[in-house]
Amino acid sequence: MQPSFPTDHKSILERMRSIAPEQYAKTRNFSTGSVSYLSPYISRGVLTLPQIWNNLKERGYTIQTAAKFIQELAWREYFQRTWWHLGNKILQDIRQPQQDVLHHEIQKALTEAGTGIDAIDEGIRTLYETGYAHNHLRMYIAGLSCNLGKAHWKLPATWMYYHLLDGDIASNTLSWQWVAGSFSNKKYIANQDNINHYLNSNQKKTFLDTSYEEILKQPVPEALQNTWQPAFATILPDTAPPKIRTDLPVFLYNSYWLNPNWHTDLPANRLLILDPVHFQQYPVSKKVLDFILKLAVDCIPDIQVVKGSPQSIPELTEVPAIYSIEHPITAAYPGIKEPYPWLFPGFKGTPSSYFNFWKKVSYF
Ligand SMILES: Cc1cc2nc3c(=O)[nH]c(=O)nc-3n(C[C@H](O)[C@H](O)[C@H](O)COP(=O)(O)OP(=O)(O)OC[C@H]3O[C@@H](n4cnc5c(N)ncnc54)[C@H](O)[C@@H]3O)c2cc1C
Repeated sequence: MQPSFPTDHKSILERMRSIAPEQYAKTRNFSTGSVSYLSPYISRGVLTLPQIWNNLKERGYTIQTAAKFIQELAWREYFQRTWWHLGNKILQDIRQPQQDVLHHEIQKALTEAGTGIDAIDEGIRTLYETGYAHNHLRMYIAGLSCNLGKAHWKLPATWMYYHLLDGDIASNTLSWQWVAGSFSNKKYIANQDNINHYLNSNQKKTFLDTSYEEILKQPVPEALQNTWQPAFATILPDTAPPKIRTDLPVFLYNSYWLNPNWHTDLPANRLLILDPVHFQQYPVSKKVLDFILKLAVDCIPDIQVVKGSPQSIPELTEVPAIYSIEHPITAAYPGIKEPYPWLFPGFKGTPSSYFNFWKKVSYF
């Protein structure tokens, strides 16, 4: 069954409360496994990592009994912290240049779901229909594109981000770099047996139906030779000027921060900022934008949508206070920055690798 992503707060909380860490640990690598489908809500700031962890603790789980799930949340936090530390440098090859790059385009076989690897093609069609792809599928796609097809990771990553409801600059960019070997020690590639095992298929005699020793020695398979440079653009809605009550503070939301619990007890102006400069740099599809808008309207009463930067709203100079959440994309917002809700707020410094990060935080 294809995943679906409701936008009302009640259903989102129900989904959070139904995480089953034991099942998760056993089955998460399979496309039919018991994964949480929470990423669109986490990436959009509707749910925070500490909120999810607190809910698990209330249900009696510990870092030991929910280890596998918490480790995945820690991957997210590790990527976020890397972004905060490196800023826009995460948009370039981080640890070393990606090796063996033939071009900076994307394979038509990926954008047209025609690689000939049936389970991957079906996964890409599902991505287009639902805005979601299982983690293994994302890794398979990135491995095909960058390591067998020898594309630089940047444009294929932009394509995937464009279509993901959970699109997150850090998780996406750094995962692509991890697969492509510019943020890891080794390129990642899977063979047909691995794909058959985790994606529940039984295909043989494909260009991936070979051993791990041979797989990257072959020339670029014919199916991956046709490449192009699609253009991605976000079509933002035109919005009316917001009606601002200048006797009340302003809370600034954005596509990464749509938290329904954020000072809801305070009367305030609540504005969803859709900054064209941000969306020009990080384009998203209509499906993704519609999801963001629906989440905002369904989860945050009286929110007003503004196409523009906060600086484009003249009344903001008159209000008693402006609040946003500390985040790389709010750096230029005026006003007070509230602390970002980290899962491991006690961690200080820069994580040198995920494994060092996990070693330190798992003692907290
Ligand atoms: C090439 C590639 C691109 C990716 N792009 C994104 C992206 O744009 N946005 C995004 O949120 N995730 C991205 N991921 C990470 C991961 O695939 C998704 O977070 C996960 O599949 C979401 O499904 P879920 O919520 O059911 O995850 P679950 O397995 O239920 O995990 C729970 C939560 O842990 C976090 N998490 C799980 N796995 C990872 C991981 N490998 N890296 C970082 N965080 C993780 C997510 O917040 C997820 O919601 C990418 C991975 C790859 C390989």
